[in-house]
Amino acid sequence: MATLTIDGSQGEGGGQILRTSLSLSALTGRPFRLNNIRANRSKPGLRPQHLTAVRAAAAICNAALRGADLNSTSLEFHPQSRPRGGEYYFDVADAAKGSSAGSVTLLFQAILWPLLFADGSSQVTLRGGTHVPFSPPYHYTAEVFQPALARLGADFRLILREWGWNPSGGGMVTAVIQPITALKAAVFEPIAASQIGGIAAVTNLPAHIPQRMARRAANLLEQAGYAPAIHPLRERGRGPGAGICLWRPQAGFSSLGRKGLPADKVAETAVADLLAFEDNKAAVDKYLADQLLLPLALANGRSAYTTNELTQHTLTNAQLLRQWLGVTITIDGNLKEQSRIIIEGIGFSGD
Ligand code: ATP
Repeated sequence: MATLTIDGSQGEGGGQILRTSLSLSALTGRPFRLNNIRANRSKPGLRPQHLTAVRAAAAICNAALRGADLNSTSLEFHPQSRPRGGEYYFDVADAAKGSSAGSVTLLFQAILWPLLFADGSSQVTLRGGTHVPFSPPYHYTAEVFQPALARLGADFRLILREWGWNPSGGGMVTAVIQPITALKAAVFEPIAASQIGGIAAVTNLPAHIPQRMARRAANLLEQAGYAPAIHPLRERGRGPGAGICLWRPQAGFSSLGRKGLPADKVAETAVADLLAFEDNKAAVDKYLADQLLLPLALANGRSAYTTNELTQHTLTNAQLLRQWLGVTITIDGNLKEQSRIIIEGIGFSGD
């Protein structure tokens, strides 16, 4: 198969262009060359999370690599075998000089798609950040992304073994993935939710912090007419960390604490995002909107959903999927506004 050349500075110019390319190359066997990696980020090139994703995808399809170095701005990736199931272990810190809180949920999403279509089941253990900025918190992946993917027929389960916050990392997630031969298309309709699930968690910080976050979020949600069940958790981790994750079907909202930010404020941010989503009456949140694109492009048939906010991330990922798969994706709506997305899945089959 001819090598696909991808411009990493297109659209948003971030790490998703790399992760989508790794997934689809490992899945289809098509080699690629990626230039201008993460050109629009303040520290361009392969950061520890991205380099770990390159190594992980390469291990799964036995890829030959060029440019797989920290801060590299170009990469060549040549798969030598179809994706192989098995036991894998990847630690973001192995790609870093010192510790790293690179996101394990983003790493997971880079390797999930080839492993779903692999020749056998897999058990993957990932170490790094589990609740870090600009990435799905573990609880989003387990409580929002996983159920949405189960509807498409994807069969995987996640276990949080250790918590990893920014900047110390050291979290650990295990994923157990069963292979499938095809993904189903799906139409996601808006769901009116009354029950809101959640956790308010800290590691290595006093117990009153998660209690305050949980109580404040529950009070605000009750006042707005919802039935919240938010569990305060005090856990151990490598470093201190605090955050709240709220979820309901097809959407999740989170907020991370930091030194000097009152616990009440952390809770208020997540609740405000949730209430804005509920007012909008869209089917999925802006994160699920971009995370569903790849599996629905592979699925068999037409899928559709609305989202409360069209992001540059979604536009960029859609354009990249068109380039990789020739898939038709129609996006109706303007940036930052409600939009409707229709995907004519190509019906990828693992055989
Ligand atoms: P870069 O390293 O280039 O800054 P990145 O590799 O960190 O980029 P992005 O390309 O910005 O990653 O992609 C981030 C991904 O994380 C997107 O798929 C987005 O939906 C998801 N994401 C970010 N924040 C959240 C959140 N709070 N909840 C759920 N998903 C999130």
